[in-house]
Amino acid sequence: MMLKLGSHVSMQGDAMLIGSVEEALSYDATAFMIYTGAPQNTRRRALEQLRIEAAQQRMAEQGLPLGNIVVHAPYIINLANPDPEKRRFAIEFLVSEIERTAAIGAEHIVLHPGAHVGQGADVGIAYIAESLDDVFAKTQGVQVRVALETMAGKGTEIGRNFEELRAIMDCVKAPERLSVCFDTCHTHDAGYDIKDDFDGVMQQFDDVIGVERIGVFHINDSKNPQGASKDRHENLGLGHIGFPALSHIVHHPDFAHIPKILETPYVTEDDASKARLYPPYKYEIAMLKANTFDPSFIARIRIDQRK
Ligand code: FE
Ligand code: FE
Ligand code: ZN
Repeated sequence: MMLKLGSHVSMQGDAMLIGSVEEALSYDATAFMIYTGAPQNTRRRALEQLRIEAAQQRMAEQGLPLGNIVVHAPYIINLANPDPEKRRFAIEFLVSEIERTAAIGAEHIVLHPGAHVGQGADVGIAYIAESLDDVFAKTQGVQVRVALETMAGKGTEIGRNFEELRAIMDCVKAPERLSVCFDTCHTHDAGYDIKDDFDGVMQQFDDVIGVERIGVFHINDSKNPQGASKDRHENLGLGHIGFPALSHIVHHPDFAHIPKILETPYVTEDDASKARLYPPYKYEIAMLKANTFDPSFIARIRIDQRK
C-alpha cells in the first residue's frame, strides 16, 4: 500500500488549492494538510476562488485519493468559550469550514477541541459537545468528520488525555461524525510514552476510545521531555521522541490507511537566526520513506537552499 505521507502546506495567492497540491508534490508527498486561510483568523475566500477542480484533477492524475487531503480548522476557534456570542461565532465558522472541507473532497477536518479558560474541564467538555451538536445539526448528511486533536495540555486545553476526548464523544448526539487526530508531539508532551511504548499507548487508546477512530496522524518530534505539557514541535530525530519511534508509527501496518502529516518547524538560515526560512518536508519525507535518519539533514537543507 502507498504510504500516505505529507506535510501541512499553504493555500494562498491565485493558485490556492492547486498551489497546495503542487507544493505537496514538490516534497514527494502523497498527502497534505491545509488551513483554508490564515490559521489565526477567520477571513476566507469564496468557494469558487479555491481552484478545487484543478486541484482534484491534479490529484487524480497522480493517482492520489482526495481523502489524502486533510483540512485543519483555525486554532482561534474555541467551542468551549464561556461567552455564548463567541461560541455562536465559532459554531457558524466551523459549519462553513466543514462545507469547504466537503467541497474539497477531504474526509477529516482537524479541530483543537477547545480551552476551558478557567471554568474547569467538565464545563468545557459540556460546551464543546453542545456546540458540536449544533454544528452537526447544521451540516446533516455532509460526509466530513471532525477529527478532535490530542492536545499537549498547555494552559487550559481540553483533550490532554484520551479520557477527555472520549467524554466529548460520549456527550454528542452524533459521535459517528467524530474522529481523532493523533499528534505525536502533543501526546508525548501530555505524558504518553510513544517513544518506547507506542503499541502500549495504542492499547490504552483502544481501551478508552477505539483505534478505529483515528483519522489523521500528526508526525512531529518534540522540543521537550515526555509530560512537559508544552507543545513545541521539533524536526524529526532532533527532539525527545527521536526518529526510530516516529518512523515506527509512519510504517505501522495497523495505520497504513491513515494520512500522516508533518508539522515540523521550518529551518533557519543558521543556528543563531530566528527567522524560519526553509521547509524541511522533502528531506523529512525522504528519511521516513527510507526509514533512515540522516543527522546532517538540516545542514543539507541550508546548503541546498543557498545554491
Ligand atoms: Fe493542530
Ligand atoms: Fe498537530
Ligand atoms: Zn502542536
